[in-house]
Amino acid sequence: MFIGSLLGVPLILKNKVIGGLFAVDKEGEKTFTQEDEDILLMLALQSAAAIENARLYANTVKLATTDSLTGLTNRRVFMEELTKEAARSSRYHRSFSLLMIDIDHFKWVNDTHGHQSGDAVLRSMGGILKDQLRVVDLVARYGGEEFAILLPETDASGVKLVGDRLRRAIAQTIFLLPDGKEIGLTVSIGIASFPLCARIPSELIKGADQALYVSKEAGRNQVHLYSDVLKAQFETNPMEIAAMLNSDLNNINVIITALNLKTSCFHSHSEKVKNYAALMAHALYLNDGDKEALRLASLLHDIGIVTIPEIILNKPGALTPEEWLVVKQHPITGAEIIENVSALQHLSPIIRSHHERYDGSGYPEGLKGNEIPRLSRIIAVANTFTAMTSDLLWRKAISKEEALSRLKGLADSQFDPEIVEAFCRISSRL
Ligand code: GH3
Ligand code: MG
Ligand code: MG
Repeated sequence: MFIGSLLGVPLILKNKVIGGLFAVDKEGEKTFTQEDEDILLMLALQSAAAIENARLYANTVKLATTDSLTGLTNRRVFMEELTKEAARSSRYHRSFSLLMIDIDHFKWVNDTHGHQSGDAVLRSMGGILKDQLRVVDLVARYGGEEFAILLPETDASGVKLVGDRLRRAIAQTIFLLPDGKEIGLTVSIGIASFPLCARIPSELIKGADQALYVSKEAGRNQVHLYSDVLKAQFETNPMEIAAMLNSDLNNINVIITALNLKTSCFHSHSEKVKNYAALMAHALYLNDGDKEALRLASLLHDIGIVTIPEIILNKPGALTPEEWLVVKQHPITGAEIIENVSALQHLSPIIRSHHERYDGSGYPEGLKGNEIPRLSRIIAVANTFTAMTSDLLWRKAISKEEALSRLKGLADSQFDPEIVEAFCRISSRL
């Protein structure tokens, strides 16, 4: 290309040339004038100011969203993203997981090698975490030496592996300190999954924190899931359930989840019983108060199972007489737990009697006929129907028609005939 005339001026920002502004081949004339040069200089000055503003803005955004030491997302932005992810996952019925990671004995690094070494370790740690994860995962510096990770589309079944991979990667790393020394470090990890463990961000964080605490207490360099922590906690201290329900009745979801996890062979048993009981409530014209009591009692009827060891619950063969005694305790344990929840006390007798039989051959009291609370008699039918139509460890499900005919055969002996009759009336909707 032939160039007839050329005028160039530098773009200067803070005494540094960052580029140039050029005009080529002035139309109709051979050369650029002094006036042209002045105009171009003015334009260059204005452009430089605009570039400076854009740079400052980008920098401010970066400073406001990232942690200056590690370059990771900061806590404020992480909380915003967590809230968005919870809303998105609720809406589309998706899962995600939250990991909380805390460096073990980090104070020792500062005390032994100095604060600067501590800072270097934090920077490397951020890099390792990022390297181990997918681009869609969000890694943040949550506190001093605590990191938080958001794993979209990751449920409780796969996330333990991710946690273990991170834990191992860090335990295998040799950290090079500014003073040339090399050290090894470990981290403790706590994990909570949405919606299994909690349905709001603050509860999810609390859950992951509790699981992290268990990892620390158990000796550090470990990974724990909040769902496992809950199961263990309820087994040794069932009154924790009453405390959780007293603090917020919405915790019922987490508690039912813990129960479902424990009795994996009765998948979603409580929800199914609740749904059948609701159909019966309608067919029996129960009032609104009884309907709500039945809904909650049928969801919670097996809550006493939380104290039964999994070895007994998941035993494929027949139970020994001693094991049966433990199992038969669950209506009493459940009633005791619910007795301690001020808003649910009225459900306690209903839960206590859900294994009573109409002819007096049930447990724990051997109550007969109308001595058994009516709502317990309804739950008994829904409970047996659900069990008959579900695959259990030791036998296969039977068809709904077959289950109904068996229930009819047990009316008067095991079940209240009026309730069995109502259940048969709605059989087309089962
Ligand atoms: P544990 O295994 O129980 O977690 O022990 P720990 O020593 O890690 O726990 P602790 O929470 O008592 O100590 C955390 C330390 O992290 C204390 C604090 O001085 C240090 N720390 C927090 N933020 C920074 C930071 O930005 N830079 C450095 N160098 N140290 C930090
Ligand atoms: Mg800490
Ligand atoms: Mg620590």
